[in-house]
Amino acid sequence: MPKLANATAKAALGRATWKLLHTMTLRYPEKPTQDERDALSSYFHLLSRLYPCGECATEFQMLLKKYPPQTSSRRSASLWLCSVHNVVNERLHKPQFDCAHLDAEYDCGCGDEPLGIKSLTDDPM
Ligand code: FAD
Repeated sequence: MPKLANATAKAALGRATWKLLHTMTLRYPEKPTQDERDALSSYFHLLSRLYPCGECATEFQMLLKKYPPQTSSRRSASLWLCSVHNVVNERLHKPQFDCAHLDAEYDCGCGDEPLGIKSLTDDPM
């Protein structure tokens, strides 16, 4: 595949993956059980091993060592992922995302409760 097509495919995979990950953390329980916490942490670690872009997977593994997944609540998981995505953005020279806008960006329409992350971002971690 030509270099530009490679880059386009890698970017499309990245966008789709971030969309899934952010939407997932924004639907994560507000008060997770230990089993749910373990599942979320394992999910990210397995993703970092199996992600199809090898360079991205290696970088993500290093990020997870430096910033272990925060799983104690929906708010902490969502804000953790937002800040990790911002670290990737910085490395790739992309703009920083304002994590106060998470709920507007990732309302998947797949549940009936409001997400309520915006108000949660006003509270201290
Ligand atoms: P993306 O970064 O894909 O973001 C998509 C949309 O999400 C943005 O348009 C914005 O609306 C929103 N967004 C942006 N930042 C945030 C945030 N902090 N929180 C919430 N929402 C946000 N590519 C590489 O070239 N090298 C790598 O090493 C690499 N590592 C990656 C690691 C992982 C785990 C993933 C999932 C992807 C990785 N990628 C990597 C792909 C890269 O991060 C981008 O997805 C890709 O370059 C497309 O970028 P984009 O500008 O469309 O925006």
